[in-house]
Amino acid sequence: MLIDPFNFFVIPLALTLIFLFVAALIYDVIIFRRRRRRGNPVVYRCDSCRHIYSVPHRTPLARCPKCGNQNEPVRE
Ligand SMILES: [Zn+2]
Repeated sequence: MLIDPFNFFVIPLALTLIFLFVAALIYDVIIFRRRRRRGNPVVYRCDSCRHIYSVPHRTPLARCPKCGNQNEPVRE
């Protein structure tokens, strides 16, 4: 049986692309679930005492646990 040279290259290429697509899909699902479970903590840095702290949910201002100063989030 003679293998068509077109299939000789296309079938492994298609299998590789399908494998990569499925791997990316699994990775996305795992990362999405992990992020949703942990929440998305937001980092704040206090302007007066330089204390760095995080808050589980994004708010425009968060109170510093050390000195009570209100601060804006550091990263988006
Ligand atoms: Zn502070």
